[in-house]
Amino acid sequence: MFKKSLLHIGLISLISLNSSICLAKTIPSITLSGEIKQGGLMLGKTKPENKVTLNSKQLTVSNQGDYVFGFSRDDKTHYQLVITASDGSKSTKTLIPKMREYKLQHIKGIKKSIMQPNLEALARSKQDNKQIKAARKISSDITSFANGFIAPIKGTITGVYGSQRIYNGVPKRPHFGLDYAGKIGDPVKAPASGKVLLWVPDMFYSGGTMIIDHGQGVSSTFLHLSKSYVKQGDNVKQGDVVAAVGNSGRVTGPHLDWRINWFNVKIDPALVLKINAL
Ligand SMILES: [Zn+2]
Repeated sequence: MFKKSLLHIGLISLISLNSSICLAKTIPSITLSGEIKQGGLMLGKTKPENKVTLNSKQLTVSNQGDYVFGFSRDDKTHYQLVITASDGSKSTKTLIPKMREYKLQHIKGIKKSIMQPNLEALARSKQDNKQIKAARKISSDITSFANGFIAPIKGTITGVYGSQRIYNGVPKRPHFGLDYAGKIGDPVKAPASGKVLLWVPDMFYSGGTMIIDHGQGVSSTFLHLSKSYVKQGDNVKQGDVVAAVGNSGRVTGPHLDWRINWFNVKIDPALVLKINAL
């Protein structure tokens, strides 16, 4: 008897809970793709009219409802992702990027002129950085980041994201790209569609440098190129041959260094290759 009435209470509360959900506003669902991990890029999909914020910072939502954000190499932030529907109802998800450990990588045989740049070279590299920074600030309405990425080249991976680099015994900034072995002239493909934001054939550290905009602050950067087959402002499709592998800048041999950014946040290209389009 006691059990039965308990069951009744249970049923009643279930029903009332259900009806309250029915009467309530439709809570927006949170759909994400990508690894919640340091260096990870996250793709999101929602209704185009919804508002998306990440720790109170509003993210762009495309006409198809696509949005994107990412985590830096040493990101220890706890994030609140909030989706607000047009009727004011909200969904919140806490995201804590998983910590990673990075390798040490020793690189020897770098030319003295590159290790100890003269004043002219320092001025040049400052100017290079300014140009790169300006390109990565751009937030366009391109949405090709949402369609997934392909590897730009089929070479063996010789360098990974995040590793602490030691040049001729001197610790320098970590490496943020994915390095592929290659020969000078090997074709480099666009990992995703987009627009060429920058092509400079002779930057001091990075040599032939190209940046492709994939939208909402997501960009690919290629370093050490020998040649470009496109120019600034060109639209490119995923898989188009855009450049050739080279050995320009601070290198020990020909290879392709591919980087992914979400604005100034440096993303791991290896994680980006694993993302499924939504
Ligand atoms: Zn590299």
